[in-house]
Amino acid sequence: MIDLRNVNKWYGDYHALVNVSETIATGEVVVVCGPSGSGKSTLIRTLNRLEPIQSGEILLDGKNIHDRDVDVNVLRSGIGFVFQQFNLFPHLTVLANCTLAAVQLGKLSARDAQERAMALLDRVGLAHKAQALPNALSGGQQQRVAIARALTMQPPLMLFDEPTSALDPEMVGEVLLVMRDLAKDGMTMVCVTHEMGFAREVADRVIFMDQGAVVERATPEQFFNRP
Ligand code: ADP
Ligand code: ADP
Repeated sequence: MIDLRNVNKWYGDYHALVNVSETIATGEVVVVCGPSGSGKSTLIRTLNRLEPIQSGEILLDGKNIHDRDVDVNVLRSGIGFVFQQFNLFPHLTVLANCTLAAVQLGKLSARDAQERAMALLDRVGLAHKAQALPNALSGGQQQRVAIARALTMQPPLMLFDEPTSALDPEMVGEVLLVMRDLAKDGMTMVCVTHEMGFAREVADRVIFMDQGAVVERATPEQFFNRP
């Protein structure tokens, strides 16, 4: 599904991604780990063009997403993205947050978007909060709304950039549970996370980055059970 070929990125003269080549298959769950500043967030942000690259290719179903003729809105409507910060609109209800993009991009009618968003809010255990404003929710609940929002577009691919890092510890579990459920459902997922329990149980593959390069890739068994 995603094929990165010799991807290089610089911030000015800082070489942030160094010859990254990686293939991610449909249905695969890949966890990206590595020290702070190693390029994990940059890598994931190149996958939906939040960051440009300077050389190499990123093919999504065979199409180079960094080509000039790619419509970024269309691209991003097919890729769900969950950030560390929830980025919900504070003045919109939970339900309106979930339907906004799908309706604005003309992907769904208002009615279909509401129906789908309600089903997804139910799935993340928050149907009863549909009419609440985000600030009335806990951090863990807000992040579950952010996941439901991303899923409203029915994206074949979900990207997670440290989705639990901004949460109080007691709320981490409820978000990981939703992610685990998605993985079980066959969703293709690329997750930057320090949650090694999640990596061990859910990942098909763990990628380890250091100084902008992928220095190791392994199954969780290989990764966690080495001598
Ligand atoms: P990680 O997610 O592994 O912590 P990042 O991808 O956020 O790493 O950052 C990798 C490196 O690139 C860091 O040294 C960071 O300071 C640098 N960097 C990230 N974003 C920018 C930017 N917009 N401009 C300049 N340098 C950046
Ligand atoms: P994360 O690792 O989750 O991206 P950071 O604190 O590293 O969090 O980055 C937050 C924002 O600041 C990002 O948009 C990133 O691109 C930008 N950034 C990070 N490092 C630098 C830097 N050295 N110079 C300019 N912008 C940066």
